[in-house]
Amino acid sequence: KITFNVEEIRKQFPALHREVYGKPLIYFDNGATSQKPQIVIDTINRYYTSENANIHRGVHFLSQQATDAYEEARRIVQRFIHAQHEHEVIFTKGTTDGINLVASCFGELLTAGDEVIISGMEHHSNIVPWQMLCERKKLKLKVIPVLDNGELDLEAFEQLLSEATKLVAVTHISNTLGTINPVKWIIDKAHTAGAKVLIDGAQSIQHMPINVQELDCDFYVFSSHKVFGPTGTGVLYGKEAILNEMPPYQGGGDMIAKVTFEKTTYNELPFKFEAGTPHIIGGIATGTALHYLSSLDQEAIHGHETDLLNFTQERLLETEGVRIIGTAREKTSVVSFIVDGIHPFDIGTLLDKQGIAVRTGHHCTQPLMDRFGIPGTVRTSFAFYNTKAEVEVFLKALNRSIGMLR
Ligand code: PMP
Repeated sequence: KITFNVEEIRKQFPALHREVYGKPLIYFDNGATSQKPQIVIDTINRYYTSENANIHRGVHFLSQQATDAYEEARRIVQRFIHAQHEHEVIFTKGTTDGINLVASCFGELLTAGDEVIISGMEHHSNIVPWQMLCERKKLKLKVIPVLDNGELDLEAFEQLLSEATKLVAVTHISNTLGTINPVKWIIDKAHTAGAKVLIDGAQSIQHMPINVQELDCDFYVFSSHKVFGPTGTGVLYGKEAILNEMPPYQGGGDMIAKVTFEKTTYNELPFKFEAGTPHIIGGIATGTALHYLSSLDQEAIHGHETDLLNFTQERLLETEGVRIIGTAREKTSVVSFIVDGIHPFDIGTLLDKQGIAVRTGHHCTQPLMDRFGIPGTVRTSFAFYNTKAEVEVFLKALNRSIGMLR
């Protein structure tokens, strides 16, 4: 492993060195999407420059090379999340696509009266597909409440579980609060009740080691763009047996074994769920991004991100009128806060003018905002390439902004 040196790491990310409004960019919106290392940019560039071809169908050299690269990326993902089989890794368009796939296809196996449990801190993409499914199939949707500190009410969760529960779909880490949920415990409880579990890994894949076999989750979904890869690509992991039981998602090329007008048979995993020409370089560059991340010292990254989190929270608590939303015991490097009497959007706008990118608003978690009785928050979400010096600049800019708005 390469020793962790944040300045060396920053050199790998060209976007971090640009200016915004004449100020050095401070990028604290990693929860929305991460910046890309040069190696990922180079992979994409090289593919379109000299390696472009369609996959899984060509006899020619370029097609075979592209197919090999795509399938090698699948194996990189497999190793990264510790899946048992490479065909349990389905390339998707992203987290949202993965959840919709499961809602559509696993949803086909459910019948009226069955129940799905989600939580009160889910991203809209882990709420709406279940609402649509429940309406279509006459299922019941139940919601695990969120406690005042931003943790899930686990006692209430146990009460919600019953024989009728067929699926529990929860986020590993809240994109809004930073809460790390005890998903292993949730998975065990759900399995005891006979339910399957989908873990939304959109915010965990980039912050902690993932072992889907140890977790024993039935599905795990993530987006490449939040883990230093390209947009438009993501992964659905599913256990082989369940994926085999599920009907296909979309129909088209690649997902078939044989087509006649009388009857079509479907391809085996993973291709059954990958209709049409995929985002080829998206898949390949996902492999590059995960390979890059694995080459770094994970413990050092974790320590650095935790330092950024603690430092930011401590200093924010000293700032008059600031309230941190989400004070769970287990948190990742996400800090959401509000400032008395000032709209989050106004703070975000003034920070932007000082070169600092944060996110403001409901973060696609409107029910969670309602739960806390607030319209939105200002959110800083750190990646391992952020620094304490950047946090210092941010805190000064925040104080200046509050002063101007008061
Ligand atoms: N779930 C969580 C927890 C997220 O943070 C996000 C992205 N903000 C999503 C789902 C949706 O991801 P995407 O938009 O990449 O599909």
